[in-house]
Amino acid sequence: MRLAYTPEEEAFRQEVRAFVREHLPPGIRRKVELGMRLEHADYVTWFRILEARGWLTPGWPVEHGGPGWTPLQRHLFDEETLLGGAPRIIASGIQMLGPVLIAYGTPEQKAKYLPDIRASRTWWAQGFSEPGAGSDLASLRTTALLEPDGRHFVVNGHKVWTSYATWCSMMFALVRTDPQAAKPQEGISFLLIDMASPGVTVRPIRMLEGGTDLNEVYLDQVRVPRENLVGELHQGWGYGKFLLGHERTGIAGIGSCKQQLARARALAERQGLAGDALLQARLAQFGIELMALEMTALRLLSRGQRSRTPEVEASMLKVRGTELRQALYETLLEIGGPDSLPFSAEAQFLEAWDGDALPLPTVAECATLAANCLDSRKLSTYGGSNEVQRNLIARAVLAA
Ligand SMILES: Cc1cc2nc3c(=O)[nH]c(=O)nc-3n(C[C@H](O)[C@H](O)[C@H](O)COP(=O)(O)OP(=O)(O)OC[C@H]3O[C@@H](n4cnc5c(N)ncnc54)[C@H](O)[C@@H]3O)c2cc1C
Repeated sequence: MRLAYTPEEEAFRQEVRAFVREHLPPGIRRKVELGMRLEHADYVTWFRILEARGWLTPGWPVEHGGPGWTPLQRHLFDEETLLGGAPRIIASGIQMLGPVLIAYGTPEQKAKYLPDIRASRTWWAQGFSEPGAGSDLASLRTTALLEPDGRHFVVNGHKVWTSYATWCSMMFALVRTDPQAAKPQEGISFLLIDMASPGVTVRPIRMLEGGTDLNEVYLDQVRVPRENLVGELHQGWGYGKFLLGHERTGIAGIGSCKQQLARARALAERQGLAGDALLQARLAQFGIELMALEMTALRLLSRGQRSRTPEVEASMLKVRGTELRQALYETLLEIGGPDSLPFSAEAQFLEAWDGDALPLPTVAECATLAANCLDSRKLSTYGGSNEVQRNLIARAVLAA
């Protein structure tokens, strides 16, 4: 196990840090630092800046525009961009669909879709979950049946929790193409659906914190050309599992934890709590736990620098990382105290705030804390809920 970065890795870290400092638009940085909602345009702006530098698709092979980084470089990139106040790379096209198309897509699919993903021209929705199929994804019921001439599928069903669907013009979906298959995991296919097709209806879901990032997607007699099938018919479960492996990359969220711990320390100072021994002990404890989490992640990364974190360790990192972040958001809320009660301050300061120049009164800075804390409840659910991760850990440990 190697606990220090090599001079080359340290130089890479400095390069990323300097790039973020120089190129991240200040208005976007401030929104991230204040825990405000980002618009679609904010993400697209930042993604295009990254793409111009060749850094938008770290998980893609070099021949498809990836930078060819080691897993440790990817870790450093995630950490430095988040610490520098940049938005997370959230687009499902970049992190999920891209690797699937590269591995299993036809040459035509790669030529048609990959350039638009990299240029942030097309955003993709992930149509996996359904009202009766979340953790138990194999019980999905959306059907896609081939018309008699075999040229189109007709899709009927209901997807749910579809992130950013209103920003997306395309959706990749798992659909049941053989309802008679013997096992639930069989007879599922991986289909690319144009969201503008007749019969597609998107209904935003109002979330705990007031946002509408999540959606329901209704599919009613939607015709999809056969050439939108990825890989082989009825083999979609395997492609879906491959994709979910990519969803879990960087799942510990160490950069986000560091970002929120720094926010908590700075806010404590501004709220006059620098001398509060109990709070300072709690923040120090977060620092220790975060260091332990980071060491675990680095230990796994340095173990042969393999390209993907193994399943059970990824589960461990996910559980600890998300628990830490949720606890940090709760602590932030307490640091804000009465100032974090949601009221009209957010709206008032948003009206008055011109992006960067105006100093914010602390009370306004606290106005996002309650929404951020409520929003953080999702962390232990998506990407495979923490209860399900614990099952995986238990199975691996007890079976060993
Ligand atoms: C913010 C957010 C974004 C999302 N984005 C997308 C998206 O873009 N596309 C998409 O397809 N899906 C998306 N999802 C859905 C996500 O994948 C599911 O929420 C997740 O798989 C859990 O499924 P469920 O919500 O149906 O809960 P369920 O599976 O019904 O689980 C309910 C509860 O039971 C527990 N539980 C379930 N099974 C077990 C078990 N075997 N042992 C112990 N406990 C268990 C779970 O941990 C959970 O607490 C998103 C979810 C969230 C929160």
